[in-house]
Amino acid sequence: MRKPIVAGNWKMNKHIGEAQELAAGVAEGTNGFDDVEVVVGPTAICLAPVAAVIEGSNLGLAAQNMHWADSGAYTGEVSPTMIKDAGCDWVILGHSERREYFHESDKDINHKTHVAIEHDLKPIVCIGETLEEREDERTLQKVEFQVRAALAGVNKSDIKNIVIAYEPIWAIGTGKTASPEQAQEVHADIRSMIADIYGQEAADAIRILYGGSVKPHNIAEIIAQPDVDGALVGGASLEVDSFVSIAETVN
Ligand code: 13P
Repeated sequence: MRKPIVAGNWKMNKHIGEAQELAAGVAEGTNGFDDVEVVVGPTAICLAPVAAVIEGSNLGLAAQNMHWADSGAYTGEVSPTMIKDAGCDWVILGHSERREYFHESDKDINHKTHVAIEHDLKPIVCIGETLEEREDERTLQKVEFQVRAALAGVNKSDIKNIVIAYEPIWAIGTGKTASPEQAQEVHADIRSMIADIYGQEAADAIRILYGGSVKPHNIAEIIAQPDVDGALVGGASLEVDSFVSIAETVN
């Protein structure tokens, strides 16, 4: 069976000391949760300091982005080998905020997905529709396009190490969540698409997370959906109690 994941995307929040305090609290609060993988995603500058305080715990560490090259003249960027060196085993790719504000394309995200796999980093690839696309009934078309684009050229044997995060853009930071039925419909659609491309075994193995205003009070109904394998949490991952409570419900 697929082991669920609860991952916190801290976005551009928390200074080094605060990040260490939050991570240490999450490590302590989730100690002994054997049936969920818990991952925290601090800013790049906090990765190494957070890695130092969670060493020996079960917490995974995710970067929120990375460049595709190992090094070179890319001012302001951080490479896959650097985030690995800092202690990451995960990397979030293609978040809608990266797509919108930093113009990341589906092609960039596909490139980074390949590079993550080459470096033994597990990518959490984010996809999702805008409100306009949902209202136009183009949700499935959009997410299918994004998943196909992100996974183009990826081998079947690597699918089990890739995580898809379905994050409807209209639900991010808005307090509006997709209903459990809306989430399930999209997750099931993605899984059946993976089955078409890679076969049923790969489809059964890939984990698909839901993201968008996940809170302690709504996680139970979301995780109850058969194709929802966990959550990518923004705002509620910034406090120990709320994040641990979400992980506890999933565990
Ligand atoms: P919120 O949980 O704050 O809506 O953020 C979701 C998100 O973007 C996680 O990547």
